[in-house]
Amino acid sequence: MHAHWTRRQFLGRVGMAAAAIQTLDQLDLCCALAGDAKTAAKDLFELKPVADGVYAAIAATQYKVNSNAAVILTNDGVVVVDSHSKPSAAQALYHDIRGLTKNPVRKIINTHFHWDHWQGNQVYADAFPSLEIITSERTKENLTMADAGVGGVPFIERQLAALPKEIDKLKDDIMKATDPEQKARLEENIRQAEAYLAELKTLKPMLPTRTVTSTMTLNEQGREIQLLLLGPGHTDGDVYVYLPKEKVVVTGDAVIDWMPFLNDGYPEEWVQTLTALEKVDFNQMILGHGEVATKEHLVFFKGYLADLIASVKKAAADGGTLDEMKKAIPDQLAPRYERGMSKYPLGQYRDRVGLNIEMVYQKVVKKG
Ligand SMILES: [Zn+2]
Ligand SMILES: [Zn+2]
Repeated sequence: MHAHWTRRQFLGRVGMAAAAIQTLDQLDLCCALAGDAKTAAKDLFELKPVADGVYAAIAATQYKVNSNAAVILTNDGVVVVDSHSKPSAAQALYHDIRGLTKNPVRKIINTHFHWDHWQGNQVYADAFPSLEIITSERTKENLTMADAGVGGVPFIERQLAALPKEIDKLKDDIMKATDPEQKARLEENIRQAEAYLAELKTLKPMLPTRTVTSTMTLNEQGREIQLLLLGPGHTDGDVYVYLPKEKVVVTGDAVIDWMPFLNDGYPEEWVQTLTALEKVDFNQMILGHGEVATKEHLVFFKGYLADLIASVKKAAADGGTLDEMKKAIPDQLAPRYERGMSKYPLGQYRDRVGLNIEMVYQKVVKKG
């Protein structure tokens, strides 16, 4: 399953002369691949130090979204949490990592199975044949299951089938657009969607090589890295990466800086799980999306989920229909949550609150 390419195959693919094999270092080869990585990296990420040797790669908000990543340097290597939505994005971050250290990337940790967090795994696996890709047992299962949700190997096929229609729709929208700014944005979206489609066609799904079923500690040369399995939340396999000495936690999408995505989630358990996370001794969170945050944001984010669930339950108990809930609840919760959940062009409060209500209605009320 985990078929690493040999160096020769790797060179063959990038069309380099066989003579170059003797002279090129494998690591440099990886970077030589992305001739424009420097520009791309600047547009895709900002690498922010959060502790000595620990960085948050904060993804720029794009139409074809990338997740944030965490970069953890050890005395003899690098551990990277999450690998974005596509190899070119992982390549761009890898280029930046090479600016920090020449040590090899030894481990990738995938926080969950969603497409925007693991589809770049191959970049690191190709560069480092002994790379370990670690996640929870549940997430590995989700990565191969037919209907786990918006991620995994079967989801690649679904995206390939859906993208041409998505691009046609964007083209239709451009025809109808009158505002030049909106037109330019749609054109940029088409460019991103077409580039993403081209990458998906050659994607090599690189699955985890090692799984964990409960919280455990990795002792990496000078760095203690805990993998916390705290319960279901954003998915049923969420992994939190915790650095106890640095007091930093990497949350994946279990905590983000915009509106949560509940479709593959477990709303009530999510609140419980975040209560467990709150008890962990940390000062900074590297989120799945958005800027580095403090514990205060965890309280805010959990508060939204808890209030959303309470509002839907109450409306249902009062005999309200889903349509009525979608009309009333957004305004009820807006004073507390609209501003804090609408800091970025993506995932804003009004864009997602209706869908969130519907998900809670289906997953909590209907099932309850
Ligand atoms: Zn995500
Ligand atoms: Zn996600």
